[in-house]
Amino acid sequence: MINFGSGPAALPDEVKLQLQLDILDFKGSGFSVLELPHRGRLIQNLIEETNDLVKSLMNLPPNYQVIWMQGGGRLQFHMIPLNFLKKDTTAAYVISGHWAKQAYLEALKLGDAQIVSSSEEKMFQSLPDLDFTLPEPAQKLAYLHYCSNNTIYGTQFKHFKKLKDIPLIVDMSSDILTRRLDYRPFDLIYAVAQKNLGIPGITMVVIKEDLLKEAAFSVPDILSYPAYVRSHSTVNTPAVFQILTTFRMLEWMKEKDLNHIFMENEKKAQLLYDFLDQSVLFEPIAHKDSRSQTNVCFRLKSRSIYETEVVLEYLKNHRLYFLSGHRNIGGFRAGLYNAISLSDVQCLIDVLKKYESQY
Ligand code: PMP
Repeated sequence: MINFGSGPAALPDEVKLQLQLDILDFKGSGFSVLELPHRGRLIQNLIEETNDLVKSLMNLPPNYQVIWMQGGGRLQFHMIPLNFLKKDTTAAYVISGHWAKQAYLEALKLGDAQIVSSSEEKMFQSLPDLDFTLPEPAQKLAYLHYCSNNTIYGTQFKHFKKLKDIPLIVDMSSDILTRRLDYRPFDLIYAVAQKNLGIPGITMVVIKEDLLKEAAFSVPDILSYPAYVRSHSTVNTPAVFQILTTFRMLEWMKEKDLNHIFMENEKKAQLLYDFLDQSVLFEPIAHKDSRSQTNVCFRLKSRSIYETEVVLEYLKNHRLYFLSGHRNIGGFRAGLYNAISLSDVQCLIDVLKKYESQY
């Protein structure tokens, strides 16, 4: 069975098998990873090793810190303004989809936030214009926020407009480590684990030390970025098994070689879009220049809701699962994260072709 879900998403078999061993006996300690003390050497080393792997795979210079938090992407929507949106500042948001908008709405609850560009009027089927100007009056900008890949709408930024001296904060939940990208222009990157990095329960945050210095002092430790850095992600008991899953995923990516994964990801998306572009029954939803490599959204040209259900059933009968589109847009959505192979995608295309030829 192939899991094309957009998150929680497929994990490689090698990772699941390794986790079974870790549950029984973690690193030869004789203990399950599920029962080890979080402040003990083994778990503290695990966190350090995971951070090192992130830094090396993302090719980050030493002035970045990696931390692990609970609360998902939604907590980050709140924590970012809580830590960085001060009284005399405003935050700028690029609204490219549902999650970007949720992040903006959370910021509004805490202070002054403004939309600098949005594609909501185009139903998020294409990316917002990046030729935007800054909010007026020219208050001090606390940060500029993007969502790099719009999981629901299947659109993805290839470029980010960076404003001089304005911290750049990006939600990379659905495309972290899936493509060649220079991460150094970003000041804070966050990514929930349940798509490309493991399972629900943790969010990875990568933050530049200069931005850390800007964090408000009054924030409770449990919501404070500097407190997580100081405590090595152990402000309270961390989600150890989730961190271990991410560690095993990162090891798997390193072993497979990131360049190879990136090349394969390009091919996977290309194959599927090529099929959809020439299909008589199906069509991609996102505009061509905005298409995502990790979440391919498509629909029946007829837009029939009844037939969409029939196709989903047909796909399941061919062992292809979790392909329904998000309820906001309907249709179909294929999550092509790193754990999905080229042959998995070929299999999906073959079944769609078979359906097309039969009906
Ligand atoms: N950002 C993006 C890009 C997402 O796709 C999601 C959820 N899938 C979130 C944030 C929210 O994550 P969570 O459900 O972990 O809060």
